[in-house]
Amino acid sequence: MVSIPTDTVAVTEQQRLIASSIRSICEDFDDTYWREHDEAGRYPTEFARALADGGWFGILIPEQYGGGGMGTPETVVMFEEIAANGGGFSAAQAVHGSIYTSSPIVRYGSDSLKEEYLPKFAAGEATVPAFGLTEPNAGSDSTSMEATAVRDGDEYVINGQKIWISRVDQSDYILLMARTTPKSEVEKRTEGISMFLVDIERVEEAGQLSMDKIPKTASNFVHSFQLYLEDVRVPADHLVGEEGSGFYQMLDGLNEERLVIAAECIGLGELAVDRGVKYANEREVFERPIGQNQAIQHPLAEAHTRVQAAKAMTYSAADQVDDDDSEVGARANMAKYLAADAAFDAADAAVQTHGGFGVAREYDVERYFREARLTRLVPIAQELVLNYVGEQVLGLPRSY
Ligand SMILES: Cc1cc2nc3c(=O)[nH]c(=O)nc-3n(C[C@H](O)[C@H](O)[C@H](O)COP(=O)(O)OP(=O)(O)OC[C@H]3O[C@@H](n4cnc5c(N)ncnc54)[C@H](O)[C@@H]3O)c2cc1C
Repeated sequence: MVSIPTDTVAVTEQQRLIASSIRSICEDFDDTYWREHDEAGRYPTEFARALADGGWFGILIPEQYGGGGMGTPETVVMFEEIAANGGGFSAAQAVHGSIYTSSPIVRYGSDSLKEEYLPKFAAGEATVPAFGLTEPNAGSDSTSMEATAVRDGDEYVINGQKIWISRVDQSDYILLMARTTPKSEVEKRTEGISMFLVDIERVEEAGQLSMDKIPKTASNFVHSFQLYLEDVRVPADHLVGEEGSGFYQMLDGLNEERLVIAAECIGLGELAVDRGVKYANEREVFERPIGQNQAIQHPLAEAHTRVQAAKAMTYSAADQVDDDDSEVGARANMAKYLAADAAFDAADAAVQTHGGFGVAREYDVERYFREARLTRLVPIAQELVLNYVGEQVLGLPRSY
């Protein structure tokens, strides 16, 4: 729970109900729970189970498949609450994929894929929280991916490597991106990439998939992996959508997902400001609360202002996300940029407010700081957002 005022945007009755339902789930998971999971690098299974049992993994899945049939205005609330109520960015990341990775199947999957998988995903009986796009030699230039998928009878055979792929250890399935046509043979670099739904256990047992966990310092209980794909055999009917259109399918829905990432940053920023304010009121030095010093007050007040400004942009963009309007991408990218920077400033102010205890695990703000730093790198680095704004919004020449 945060005690600072965060009701700075107009919300619908449904958004209000979602906020209160998520808050009541989060109440069962206190700061100690998150601290211990972060320290041990242990996935928050109980938290994920509580959301799955509440039907929340199906929030975006149409009602005909057992889901909630809701949209971005609802998911931004859900994820802001998860982050703000103590879990931070990493709690949101732990379950984010369970909701967003099934979206391309909803939009582009064949009827048989939808009928077979969506009810299981909506009920939380099977999970597809892993999404495999990034590669060691491509990085942000993802259309330069080297993984290939070649049709062989009624299967595709996938070879290559992926890096930084999160939650593979918690997933039954991964949505994997690979080239079905070499980059040199397509007119546009975004063409020739396809999307596959891969059963992780089956290909691991067959020795076609192996992985190394990447040791890291933020989001410690959400593990990321380097994947080695060696003749991974996928049934041809597990191609999601059209062959060669996978990149476009991924882009469709990216703005919505980016707004949800912004909401996760906002929740983290609110959490950090709240803990900073709490400590500033409690801690007394020179016989007065440290919060009486403007040097402590102003960074917290500024961070709060920035977080709430990012929230205004995120919520208004979320309300307009379904409008057939070319500005959606601009708004979603700008919202994510502002929210990540606001979260970073908030976490930095919270650490500074705590003095030496800013780096003590028991006050948690050091975790928020590590996570806030990460939000400036993923799922897209801030520089790449600015590239988008420079080129697509301001009409400047492409810089890369
Ligand atoms: C914890 C974590 C979890 C992740 N989970 C997943 C996942 O589940 N699935 C997945 O597919 N990927 C995942 N990723 C990968 C993530 O999306 C990439 O790390 C991110 O897109 C940046 O790519 P990169 O790390 O290769 O950086 P690079 O592309 O190597 O960039 C390095 C730096 O150079 C800058 N840069 C590069 N090109 C330009 C340019 N043209 N103009 C200006 N600046 C530039 C970047 O902004 C960045 O600051 C994850 C990453 C992390 C750290």
